[in-house]
Amino acid sequence: MSKTVICPGSFDPVTLGHLDIITRASKMFDRVVVAVLVNSSKTPTFSTQERIELLNAAVGDLPNVEIVSFEGLLAEYCKTCGISTIVKGLRAVSDFEYEFQMAIANKKLNPGLETIFLTADADSTFLSSSMVREICSMGGDISNFVPACVHDRIVAKLRK
Ligand code: ADP
Repeated sequence: MSKTVICPGSFDPVTLGHLDIITRASKMFDRVVVAVLVNSSKTPTFSTQERIELLNAAVGDLPNVEIVSFEGLLAEYCKTCGISTIVKGLRAVSDFEYEFQMAIANKKLNPGLETIFLTADADSTFLSSSMVREICSMGGDISNFVPACVHDRIVAKLRK
């Protein structure tokens, strides 16, 4: 049976840390759905459309990965799509408590839903979208932090 997993997140914007998790998941599973969270109570730096476009460019050479957006509860979205496995990246112990709570909450809401964690690559354990936004907006070099094919678009937006 073919296995589809979902990689949810804000991706504001996509980093090499995200791409590492997505790429590794794409080798382990038949289909990977990368789901961009649309949170109407928060204003992201990059619009939903921009986050989707950047992700699409970043995963261009991974044929079994598709980018979608979703609003509301992930557990409900997974039910609607018939997806039963979430794949997330764990950077450090600091991620663990929150992710552990989320995994349990999602299972309570949707008992068929499992969460799998992949350990972050040693080179990207420190990396987050907020760090990329901060460094770039202050004129720093983010070329080691974001996929090369979307670097210029991210810089153009953040230095506006
Ligand atoms: P953030 O805004 O913290 O960068 P997101 O909410 O967009 O992250 O994260 C989406 C998913 O990607 C989460 O599972 C998160 O743990 C994972 N992730 C984010 N950054 C990294 C990284 N540097 N290495 C591995 N996984 C990461």
